[in-house]
Amino acid sequence: VFIRQINMQAQNLAARLTSSGLLHTQGLVGGKWTDAYDGKTIKVCNPATGEVIANVPCMGKKETNDAVNSAFDAFNSWKKLTAADRSKRLRKWYDLLMAHKEEIGQLITLEQGKPLKEAIGEVSYGASFIEFSAEEAKRVYGDIIPSPLPDRRLFVLKQPVGVVGAITPWNFPLAMITRKVGPALACGCTVVIKPSELTPLTALAAAELSLQAGIPPGVVNVVMGNAPEIGEALLSSSKVRKITFTGSTAVGKKLMAGSAGTVKKVSLELGGNAPCIIFDDADIEVALKGALATKFRNSGQTCVCANRVLVQEGIYDKFADAFSTAVQNMKVGDGFGEDVAQGPLINEAAVQKVESLIKDAVSKGAKVLVGGKRHSLGMTFYEPTVMTDVKSEMLISREEVFGPVAPLLKFKTEEEAIHMANDTNAGLAAYIFTTNVQRSWRVAEALEYGIVGVNEGLVSTEVAPFGGVKQSGLGREGSKYGMDEYLELKYVCLGNLS
Ligand code: NAD
Repeated sequence: VFIRQINMQAQNLAARLTSSGLLHTQGLVGGKWTDAYDGKTIKVCNPATGEVIANVPCMGKKETNDAVNSAFDAFNSWKKLTAADRSKRLRKWYDLLMAHKEEIGQLITLEQGKPLKEAIGEVSYGASFIEFSAEEAKRVYGDIIPSPLPDRRLFVLKQPVGVVGAITPWNFPLAMITRKVGPALACGCTVVIKPSELTPLTALAAAELSLQAGIPPGVVNVVMGNAPEIGEALLSSSKVRKITFTGSTAVGKKLMAGSAGTVKKVSLELGGNAPCIIFDDADIEVALKGALATKFRNSGQTCVCANRVLVQEGIYDKFADAFSTAVQNMKVGDGFGEDVAQGPLINEAAVQKVESLIKDAVSKGAKVLVGGKRHSLGMTFYEPTVMTDVKSEMLISREEVFGPVAPLLKFKTEEEAIHMANDTNAGLAAYIFTTNVQRSWRVAEALEYGIVGVNEGLVSTEVAPFGGVKQSGLGREGSKYGMDEYLELKYVCLGNLS
């Protein structure tokens, strides 16, 4: 019965998406919906059921080269539009995304699994980058530098980088794309998007709406299929001037190395290992709410989600009890179900990774307080889990879990908490819960992370810079700083003025 209900939801959704023109199962090259040239396809599956929901083209080098050429040709005219014109078209794209918020949210739930409410929230969040970029497009301008010589004038121009290759993951199928494409287009760049093969339908729906918004053919291209081959085609092309990537640290390193051949600009948003530090003096309700939100959103499959919960010894047992009770009450189910707080993981491999990390931790002395096993709903569902007696040297504290597991570690002093928090190669997001203002400032300064939330578990917004230090990445997305990633500075010296 469960599977049949989902089938019906998928069919209803397919009908609605078709009638609004949003259901595409082909790539977009130079404004044309395109199959793989050899006709090969790959399956897109619903993670809640495993059933195939679509077949999309398995593209490679040739299709990517054509997409790059289209983006290169389109760049010449797109960059010459006035900023006001680009801004208007981006604004229209934002309006269309918001007008289709419900359907796109359903599409995200169908191919990615997250609860519908979260998925619709992702559409608003994703669209906000397009709206912000529409506004920022009008504020891209350079400087005049006071000249040291009386007969010279010195200017700094800001110009678009050129064609951008944007490679994105499956965990936020819309927002990880708009966070790149919004600023890129605002600055006058054109893009070749390579979405995750696990969640390409949302990317294609967004691309359709870019065309409807009057963004010319060739400005936004989408290719998918053989990821290493597409990656290689983007990296080796001297027409691609920038690679912007969100995904795993391992792939990010490969792309960074591969960009050296043509000396491209590179932005990387990679994996995290976020500590969530709860001090004895925290407001326990605020800490519970914040830790739950940052840990279990998107089934724990978020780069900024708490990977380790560090709790000070004075409140460790009390916090563990209250946290476990709250976690036990979370409803697990298909993302379309009512009041579902946690959907499936993306696939069975993700569940197996969670299982192996828990097994390692338990074998080294950690205890499972809640969960710790697959959910009765089926292969991709895992019970929300709380573990105690977790130590820094266990794999679960060192690797990105990317699943619904909260390992609780104990610390004694502020110094120890800072040391434990920074004892990792990652440096994306960190969270502190305390009512001591001085402490919050001290610890926020000492944490080697790109983002710090104080008494707050959900901090991402289009108006603030998002990104990591150490092996969590290079560059920032969102905010005015995110715009700089798509701009080159040109110094112009005007001499011999009489
Ligand atoms: P992934 O690295 O496996 O894949 C990301 C993208 O890279 C996909 O589109 C994939 O097809 C592509 N890819 C894989 N191999 C490639 C290659 N050789 N050449 C070119 N492209 C290639 O990551 P994932 O599993 O999709 O996403 C999860 C990871 O993303 C986690 O580590 C998570 O922390 C990270 N992430 C980071 C942020 C951030 O902002 N820092 C945001 C979301 C996700």
